[in-house]
Amino acid sequence: MVQDPRETQLELAPKNRVAIFYENGGPDKISIKDIDNVKQSELNPGEVLVRVLFTGVCHSDLHALQGDWPFPPKLPLIGGHEGAGIVVALGQGASEYVQVGDRVGIKWIADACLNCEYCRLSHEINCPQYKPSGYAVDGTFQQYVRHTARYLTKIPDGLELSQAASILCAGVTIYRALKEASLQPGNWVVIPGSGGGLGHLGVQYARNAGLRVIGIDTGSEKQTMSQQLGCEVFIDFKTTSDVATAIKDATGGIGAHAAVVAAASPAAYELALDYIRPRGTLVIVGMPNSILPVSIFKTVLMTHKIVGSAVGNRQDAVEALEIAARGMVKVHFTLKGLSDLPSVFEDMIQGRIAGRIVLDVDK
Ligand code: NAD
Ligand code: ZN
Repeated sequence: MVQDPRETQLELAPKNRVAIFYENGGPDKISIKDIDNVKQSELNPGEVLVRVLFTGVCHSDLHALQGDWPFPPKLPLIGGHEGAGIVVALGQGASEYVQVGDRVGIKWIADACLNCEYCRLSHEINCPQYKPSGYAVDGTFQQYVRHTARYLTKIPDGLELSQAASILCAGVTIYRALKEASLQPGNWVVIPGSGGGLGHLGVQYARNAGLRVIGIDTGSEKQTMSQQLGCEVFIDFKTTSDVATAIKDATGGIGAHAAVVAAASPAAYELALDYIRPRGTLVIVGMPNSILPVSIFKTVLMTHKIVGSAVGNRQDAVEALEIAARGMVKVHFTLKGLSDLPSVFEDMIQGRIAGRIVLDVDK
C-alpha cells in the first residue's frame, strides 16, 4: 500500500477549502472557496475534526444538488458522504471512540440516536433522528469535517484512503442490498447500473458470494468494465429490444433469482418485475423520485418480493471495507480534484462516468 504523505500531517490549517451551493440547480450553482476552519475549542462533546483527503462523488450528491428528492437538503450545503481521512482534533469524550491520527471514513449516516428501537436493532437508517452527511449536515466536499466520533468507521490498515472512499457509500450500500436479496451461491442476480458507482462494486461483491451476475448498462466502456469484473452476461439497455427475454434466455427460461437495481432511472425498476422468476426478489437501491407501477395480481401469482434497501449499518461498513482491504473488491475510479466537481456532475448527468470519480480535496 502507498501511504499518502498527508496522513501524518495532523496540524489544523487556518482555512478550509469547500465546495458549497446556496440554492438547488445544476453544476453551475457550486462555488469552490476557502472559509475559516473550525478550532479545536469549538468542537462539541463527542465531536472530532476529520481532515478529509479523498471523497467519492455519489449520484445521491447529484440528487442533493438538483433538489429532486421529496425532502430538500439544508441550504447552503457542502455535499459529499464518501469521505476518507484522518482524525486531527478531538472534542471532549471523543477519545472513547477514536484517537488523533486514526484513519477514518465518513458515510451517508453522520449520526443516529443509537438508543431507539431501530438503532438497537442496527437499523440506524430508520432512526427518526438520523442525520445524513452532505444533506442534513455538511459533508465531505471539504478539507475538514466536524463529525460525531461514535459514528466514524475505522479504515483498515492496508487499504489506501483513495480506495476506501467509495466503499463508504457505494460499496456498503450495494453490499447490504445483496444481503437483502437473500440469495444462495449459484443463484442468478441482475444488476442494472453494473457500470456505475454502486453497480460495478455490486458485481464484485456478488461474485465473491458465489453468485452468477448479469449486468445491465449501456456503452462499450461500461460493458467492458462489467464483463471484466465478472458479469457472465451483459445487456445494453439502449440497444437490446427485449431485455426481459434476453435475461430469461440466459437463465434457463425462467428468469433471475433477484434484481438489485442500482440505476437512477425508473424504467429499470418496472422492467425488473418482468425478468425475475417466481419467488424472486426486486431490491430497490437507486432513488429516482418516481412511482413504480406494480400488478397486485402478478405479484401474488409470482410470489414476488419487493424490498427497499438503504445504505448499511456500522457492521456492514466494517465488512465491506474488510473485503476491499483483502483485495477482493476494487473501486475502479478516476482521480480528480475538488475544483472539478461541477464538471463531474455534468458527466454524471450525461451518463459518462464508468465506475466512480474520487476527488482529492486539496486539488
Ligand atoms: P451512477 O450514475 O454512478 O450509476 C448509475 C448507472 O445506471 C449508470 O452507469 C447508468 O448508465 C446506469 N443506468 C441508467 N439507466 C439505466 C437503465 N435503465 N438500466 C440499467 N442501467 C441504467 O450512480 P450511483 O452513484 O451508482 O447511484 C445510483 C443510484 O443509487 C442513485 O439514484 C443514487 O442516489 C442511489 N443510491 C442509493 C443509495 C441507497 O442507500 N439506497 C445509496 C447510494 C446511492
Ligand atoms: Zn451515496
